[in-house]
Amino acid sequence: MEISIQKNADQNHHPCNSIRHGDWVVFKCPLCPDYERRINWRTKEVSVKGSTPEILHNGEHLPDEYLHALTATN
Ligand SMILES: [Zn+2]
Repeated sequence: MEISIQKNADQNHHPCNSIRHGDWVVFKCPLCPDYERRINWRTKEVSVKGSTPEILHNGEHLPDEYLHALTATN
């Protein structure tokens, strides 16, 4: 038997796509055209557009492994 609460939680949790633009990693949500989060992996600077408090977006924290992978490619 499925639990409906879980389904509601999933609706407020959006997985984001990450794209690298030079020093910036840009997270975009396929469900929110206005949402964009940029993280500069050199300076750790973060810039967010179109964020809503009701929705949790994946990619709000850049994992250390990801940073290591990015720095290793340069
Ligand atoms: Zn979203």
